[in-house]
Amino acid sequence: MTLHHADRDPSVDPGTDFYRFANGGWIDANVIPSGYGAWGAFEELSVRNEAVLHDLLLHAAESPRDDLDRMLGDYFAAGMDVDAVEAGAIAPIAQLLEQVDAVTSYADVLAVLPRLHDEGINAFFGAGVTVDHDDATKHLLWLVQAGLGLPDRDSYDNDSEAAVSLRAAYVDHVASQLAHSGMPAGDAATLSAEVLMLETALASYQLRAEERRDPGRTLNRHDLAALRELAPQLDLPRYLVELGAGSAETVNVQAPAYFAALPEVLTAADPATLRAYLRFHVVHGVAGALPSAFVDEDFNFYGRRIGGQQEQKDRYKRVVAALGQDLGEALGRRFVDETFPPRAKHRAQHLVDGILAEMRHSLETRSWMSEPTRAPALEKLDAFGVKIGYPDRWRDWSGLRIDRTSYAANRLAAARFENARQLGKLDEPVDLTEWEMPPHVVNAYYHPVRNEIVFPAGILQSPFFDADADDAVNYGGIGTVIAHEVTHGFDDSGRRFDGNGAFRDWWTPQDQEHFTALADRLAAQYDAYVAVDDVHVNGRLTLGENIADLGGLSLASRAHARVSEGVGPVDGLTPAQRFFVAAATIWRGITSDELARTLAQVDPHSPRRFRVLGPFSNLESFQVAFDLPDNAPMLRPRGERIEIW
Ligand SMILES: [Zn+2]
Repeated sequence: MTLHHADRDPSVDPGTDFYRFANGGWIDANVIPSGYGAWGAFEELSVRNEAVLHDLLLHAAESPRDDLDRMLGDYFAAGMDVDAVEAGAIAPIAQLLEQVDAVTSYADVLAVLPRLHDEGINAFFGAGVTVDHDDATKHLLWLVQAGLGLPDRDSYDNDSEAAVSLRAAYVDHVASQLAHSGMPAGDAATLSAEVLMLETALASYQLRAEERRDPGRTLNRHDLAALRELAPQLDLPRYLVELGAGSAETVNVQAPAYFAALPEVLTAADPATLRAYLRFHVVHGVAGALPSAFVDEDFNFYGRRIGGQQEQKDRYKRVVAALGQDLGEALGRRFVDETFPPRAKHRAQHLVDGILAEMRHSLETRSWMSEPTRAPALEKLDAFGVKIGYPDRWRDWSGLRIDRTSYAANRLAAARFENARQLGKLDEPVDLTEWEMPPHVVNAYYHPVRNEIVFPAGILQSPFFDADADDAVNYGGIGTVIAHEVTHGFDDSGRRFDGNGAFRDWWTPQDQEHFTALADRLAAQYDAYVAVDDVHVNGRLTLGENIADLGGLSLASRAHARVSEGVGPVDGLTPAQRFFVAAATIWRGITSDELARTLAQVDPHSPRRFRVLGPFSNLESFQVAFDLPDNAPMLRPRGERIEIW
């Protein structure tokens, strides 16, 4: 892959709008395809990966080579069997609905929750297992706030016209799904309004998206006595036993105030409202695998209204996506066989080494960081784990029953299997080879408790990475992504974990102050950006990602400069210029207003345009590469530029 001249807009001055300079040709030549709420480099690659997945699933369904193929093929065939799905009606969830209908009291709600949670339906709250932030060799059960049908707390208490109209549409949506599931239309209409009231009460106690980023708020270890005391009427220790997590001796409660308030909210609600709420969330949990009346209504609200999609994606795309969620690592295992040769892994490893060396240099040379913080920071960096491409050891799927009878039943079976796998980990030491993201996805992550960076084969593809491309393209593409993940270990949240993944304060107060001052300035820079209409970017919600975008660009630019000395221009661009064009190219994209509005509320990443304008405006090496004057509109005034890493 090379950079394409036609993707750029040479009529725009790079010092005025670099996003447009690098991507204007592409933006003018593309529209958002009807099945998507946004379209850009990530989606283009996802669609290419999806074509590979679709192909291998067709083969697996037609002539399976082994048990893995058989499982994948059966799931896919059941998902594509529209006639069977229509004929099955609501049979796959009939038993769950019966249990929900039997609820006549607060105590009945508590009794039914473990069963619903086991099926992946997170009514009121949810439970999950992660690595223990006090001891990274052990696991820890988390109880998390959940159970809202709208994107976030803000959707319930915002007074804007858009939010008011979204809530009205939600009430209609809940009424439609209740009616589809067999409730008389009159009851459905009345009760859907009550469901919104109930969720509004729940939401008022929940942490907002930006608050959930703060480990100081979300890490709240409770032993069983403390758990009982937190909400005596919930009897959470008994809930744990019934869920199958009876061996947990301590539990992390993500939002204690929410759990403490839950009994009062539940007892205040009418039993008919509680039944309607639970019924809706059962339907919502598997709507995509039910007959078309449910699917269409679900799309109408979540796809169109919240996600900004004009039309539904083709069915096979929806089934592949569901498969990716339910059996992701099995699907990814086949994917890497076809797309990720050892040569690619080797080159990617080389890039990671270069970026880690650059971060080391950065930590060694920060003038605002003193020695007592620098030493453990370097230790933390040196302890980083690196995972590239795919897991060394693949997950075992034996015991999971997938067949061609029912798509929805397969989805529920996969949820139960996953829940059992998660809870089973509570009694096991942490498996260092485990991946928390399937290998075919176009994404990457840093895990603060495991202290590792992970790059799935799905993103190690063009335009991010090409084993045959020149350094400028790879450092600008995947290099900035790698460096972005590395700096997450030292962003406003990640820096609060040490090299062993333990949550503890290892910064001197003064260094902490210096870091916070830099971060505050960056938050203010992004607060000023407008995401859509009158909605601003939330500089606090996006702070960690913006620190990572800025640090990522800065580190990758320096790492690239080390390897590009003496390299001549290509296609009229110097290596440094090509680096910055490549770095802007991965953020090219168009987003519908509806999706932009939703993302501004819940997505910790900034809108794509600002993932270029934000970091670039602070970078000296960008100014030098394009020989821009100090007063170029792309650049922040000299005294106001921010450099963290
Ligand atoms: Zn990130």
